[in-house]
Amino acid sequence: MSIIKTALITGAASGIGAEIAKTLFNDGCNVVIADLNEPEFLSDLKHETQSAEFVPTDLSKQESCQALVERVVQEFGAVDILVNNAGFQHISPLEEFPETVWEKMLQVMLTAPFLLTKYAFPTMKQKQWGRIINMGSIHSQVASLNKVGYIAAKHGLVGLTKTTALEGGRFGITANVICPAYVRTPLVEQQIAAQAQTLGISVEEVESQVFLKASATGRMIEPTEVASMVSYLCSDNAKSITGACWTIDGGWTAQ
Ligand code: NAD
Repeated sequence: MSIIKTALITGAASGIGAEIAKTLFNDGCNVVIADLNEPEFLSDLKHETQSAEFVPTDLSKQESCQALVERVVQEFGAVDILVNNAGFQHISPLEEFPETVWEKMLQVMLTAPFLLTKYAFPTMKQKQWGRIINMGSIHSQVASLNKVGYIAAKHGLVGLTKTTALEGGRFGITANVICPAYVRTPLVEQQIAAQAQTLGISVEEVESQVFLKASATGRMIEPTEVASMVSYLCSDNAKSITGACWTIDGGWTAQ
């Protein structure tokens, strides 16, 4: 069996996930990207001993999650690193929040991380080594208006992470949740553009007056900052770091 670690990263065709995939590949891992969309950068990830591949996956379906892990295990022997990163946003007041969107959000952002963890766990236990990183949010810790599905799912991830950490601890498996505030990605750029239209102000004004209002540093976070944290948590130096929430919020929750 290969000694190269294999990282399965969901939602890595874009934004934060794409940066995580590139970083873990540069760290020497095989990377498997599971997403609805094909990543454009895949052909850039070239190395004679490592592989990078894309598995088209709809994470809202249980059978897709199961087939995904089975495929990775068959091809690489194990899922060594699991990064549950895929997500999406929907903004509307609680009373108007569509039930179908609520269900989909929980499926993609909470049930899929649970299922992938459940299916990958035996292979990690067998190897006595595993790293699970769940992409939470500042909205795993605090709430904002009109994002009830997202905030419920992201709070749920904290519970999933802590339980995973307890059950994996004796087997060399760590589980952590990263909680960023606003990171400059397509997910956030769409929200900024929508708010600019709703409020009738410029994109720059929305950034500074709305999105960065609670930020001490006053700047958007870059995807590389989050990917560096993932890289560290996957390293052997981080083997005692588990069950924890890693906040990258520019000081938002310090107040
Ligand atoms: P993004 O929109 O750039 O990327 C999200 C990816 O998830 C996309 O490639 C999308 O295709 C994929 N995805 C969505 N639904 C899917 C499904 N059913 N099956 C498979 N793939 C699916 O967003 P991003 O900003 O990079 O967000 C990545 C993660 O980081 C999300 O979980 C998000 O909640 C979290 N996050 C983002 C921010 C931010 O400010 N951007 C802040 C905190 C947390």
